[in-house]
Amino acid sequence: MSKTIFQRIIDKEIPANIVYEDSLCLAFHDVSPQAPVHVLVIPKKPIVNLADFDDGDQALGGHLLWVIKVVAEKLGVDKSGYRVVANVGPDGGQSVDHLHFHILAKRPLAWPPG
Ligand code: 5GP
Repeated sequence: MSKTIFQRIIDKEIPANIVYEDSLCLAFHDVSPQAPVHVLVIPKKPIVNLADFDDGDQALGGHLLWVIKVVAEKLGVDKSGYRVVANVGPDGGQSVDHLHFHILAKRPLAWPPG
């Protein structure tokens, strides 16, 4: 199976504007931002999406949520607020088959999403 674009970013084969990295995950600006702040937080482990999460990934899931909080603080959006989105599968609108959380901020976001 060919590498996803996010795996290529993890492997540093293609560039990304990285805002946070540790041994388990990476956060970088979305190439096609849908808000003034649009960052993706991904695990380095090749998990397709939340439906692909298994029992052994629970600690990683908690770590990813912690990283989202840290990245939001780093981007200065923790006080104004932000939205966290994980698109899962075809009906969820997922286009890259590597688990990722969108952080969107710095504009009013409508609800429900389209
Ligand atoms: P999804 O639609 O799967 O929830 O989100 C995938 C996101 O990845 C999209 O917002 C898209 O703009 C972003 N994306 C796709 N290819 C690249 C890339 O090469 N670099 C970066 N930084 N983001 C990408």
